[in-house]
Amino acid sequence: MFPHLFFENITIDDISHVFNKNIEVSVLRLDKLHPVISGNKWFKLRYYIDEAKRSGKKNVVTFGGAWSNHIVAIAAACKINELNSIGIIRGEEPAMFSDTLINAKEWGMQLVFISREEYKQKTLPAEFLSGEYYIINEGGYGITGAKGAATILDHCNKDFTHYCCAAGTGTMMAGLINSSSADKRIVGISVMKNNTGLEEMIKELLAKNSNSTTPQWDLLHDYHFGGYAKYNASLIAFMNDFYQKTQIPSDFVYTAKLFYAINDLLNKKFFPDGSKMLVIHSGGLQGNLSFPKGTLIF
Ligand SMILES: *Cc1c(COP(=O)(O)O)cnc(C)c1O
Repeated sequence: MFPHLFFENITIDDISHVFNKNIEVSVLRLDKLHPVISGNKWFKLRYYIDEAKRSGKKNVVTFGGAWSNHIVAIAAACKINELNSIGIIRGEEPAMFSDTLINAKEWGMQLVFISREEYKQKTLPAEFLSGEYYIINEGGYGITGAKGAATILDHCNKDFTHYCCAAGTGTMMAGLINSSSADKRIVGISVMKNNTGLEEMIKELLAKNSNSTTPQWDLLHDYHFGGYAKYNASLIAFMNDFYQKTQIPSDFVYTAKLFYAINDLLNKKFFPDGSKMLVIHSGGLQGNLSFPKGTLIF
């Protein structure tokens, strides 16, 4: 049996006490949904998987790196839905597989390694170009992914003024924007360095002809810690400290940078007094397995 999705596990944890400001801070715990298809990934993938099944294609192909949350989520989602999955992995086949790749294989994914140059072009090896393969973009980027992410807030039965999330491809953020009313504000923390094209990528996914009802949104580029999956001692110390205060684990690629940013922005009075913030815990904890044991206290 494969573990199922546990929607009833999703909670909204109030962590206002940690910041001691005149602002309510809560966390939507999507990380508790599933050990592998955790966080935002199930939401982003749900309509792609539906579409793949409807198309009658039995094989799903996607792209990712050796520690990609997306890769392992696709592998699990396909297994559960009786689809074959193929992961096109960036770089030469390593002598030792990452935990992520080992996991993906256990979920039945066929791994195909291509050189970093080929990967940049996103060229699919010729054998996957026939019509039998359903292709999902790296990170689940696309309108269909945003449509799925727009259902994240269905699991939130309270009203907030601000919704905050980490942004990689921006698909989750686009979904949050599309599903929020004009009086809300959405704040995204970009986890990549100088990814200035991200605004445009998000705009591509916004519901058309709804300008008058689109909430205000901001993308902040100052919390990447050197770039995608880069970190330093102060981020690790923050993760441990944050866990001690909240019992909430975070991952160093996305949610640690998000929580760090929220803490910093609160100190800088970025949010007006009286704000009610919901921070999306988008999961991704499996990536922490790349750390030496003992680095984190959780
Ligand atoms: C994939 C991922 C994101 C990024 O989502 P996008 O829709 O690509 O912006 C954020 N957080 C976690 C934990 C992820 O795994």
